[in-house]
Amino acid sequence: MRRGSAQTRRRICIPSYAKRAGMSLPDYSDLYARFRQCSAASTDSRQPQSNTLFFALNGPSFRGATFAPQALAQGARYAVVDDAAVAALDPARYVLVPDTLEALQQLALHHRRQLTMPVVAITGSNGKTTTKELVYAVLSRRFRVQYTRGNLNNHIGVPLTLLSIDAAQHDIAVVEMGANHQGEIAFLCGLAEPSHGLITNIGKAHLEGFGGAEGVAKGKGEMFRYLAASGGTAFVNTADARIPGIAEAVAQRVSYPNPTDTYPAALLAADPHVSLQLFDGTQVEARITGAYNFPNLAAAAAVGAHFGVPTADIAAGLAGYDPTNNRSQLVRTSRNEVILDAYNANPSSMAAAVTSLAARPGDNARKAVLLADMFELGEESAAEHQALGELIAEQGFGTVVLIGPEMQRAVQPGFQHFITKDEAAAWLQAHPLQNQQVLVKGSRGMGLETLMQLL
Ligand code: ATP
Ligand code: MG
Repeated sequence: MRRGSAQTRRRICIPSYAKRAGMSLPDYSDLYARFRQCSAASTDSRQPQSNTLFFALNGPSFRGATFAPQALAQGARYAVVDDAAVAALDPARYVLVPDTLEALQQLALHHRRQLTMPVVAITGSNGKTTTKELVYAVLSRRFRVQYTRGNLNNHIGVPLTLLSIDAAQHDIAVVEMGANHQGEIAFLCGLAEPSHGLITNIGKAHLEGFGGAEGVAKGKGEMFRYLAASGGTAFVNTADARIPGIAEAVAQRVSYPNPTDTYPAALLAADPHVSLQLFDGTQVEARITGAYNFPNLAAAAAVGAHFGVPTADIAAGLAGYDPTNNRSQLVRTSRNEVILDAYNANPSSMAAAVTSLAARPGDNARKAVLLADMFELGEESAAEHQALGELIAEQGFGTVVLIGPEMQRAVQPGFQHFITKDEAAAWLQAHPLQNQQVLVKGSRGMGLETLMQLL
């Protein structure tokens, strides 16, 4: 299955390197010299390669070296391969290494160690990308910021982000780190060596890989353990009861958003967009919806304030961030008002989105939810889907459409349930929604944004 294979792939490739963490780096000076001649590092031979250093990474069912000639033909300057026969084709342009993924990761670490700028790492169960974008929006008012593009937050995306940081062009870097099992955040911190770290929240996401809710806290806590050991600074979300405890070991702490924290903030309104008051009384109306985005906004304000961004710029940065990435987007169609949150879903973010819809002004009978399966919950999947069904039933929404095999567990009287998205689409066509507030949310693999045309 899609989700299983991604996880297996990560599990296979990380420990071999992790075992060596703490050992001195092999000599990558030749590879680094070549990297310095290139415009960027790349890993996808299908993308245009303009003077890149191409890493021929292996996949579960393919050998990366097979694609290296194509990458060179398309403009890559050098290709890093693990296949001697391919490397022999052109010794001047191929670099032979034992393991291309390790080479990418170690080159990234080598590069990071040349940088003296702050590196802010962001992890957490929910809201990493949103917070990262907000932090960028705030910091970029005053600094030249390099940051994770899209959601490139894993053992490949983090090194690529690190290699995209240029000491001459950037003052601060912001790096998103994702994880679906123990040890992954420690590993990514070992590559990025962040000077600052932020955990957005600790919730129920990737329960399968982490081993339940306690496992998630432990796994996310790896970032603060890294900062405690390295003398870094932690941004501490005191609104999440699980976070202050794991932050205690970090000597340098900057807290938000409670009144006694370093940078307090207050939620003023959640609809249609989140309004908040910053520590000095400045009021901001953001363009994202849902009260659950308040801590994300407060986090970005705290990071900005810590780095000396004036409050007026913090406010302008937060107010200017307009999501176009299927996350907490408020979309007015000709017939309905849609909260498009189809980027992903897990028990915490589903509960936040459902209660947030219920709390919006208006009669709940004129609200609809289109929700699809939550993935990666392992043996807790049935119970979590059932609990979601109970939560939805309590809200009295006029229309409930559930999609996917796991959602069968969430079904309650009056709910519609379909195994496939196509069946749900056919139902929506036959029963068009009109003048409703509609929440659309499900795991990434469900791709619910394609239902927008029917809303
Ligand atoms: P991923 O693990 O896929 O990288 P992420 O942590 O980067 O996800 P985002 O992409 O920012 O998270 O947001 C995904 C969804 O999570 C949002 O659309 C929203 O539904 C939910 N979400 C965002 N912030 C929070 C929060 N603070 N608490 C609960 N849910 C949240
Ligand atoms: Mg993300």
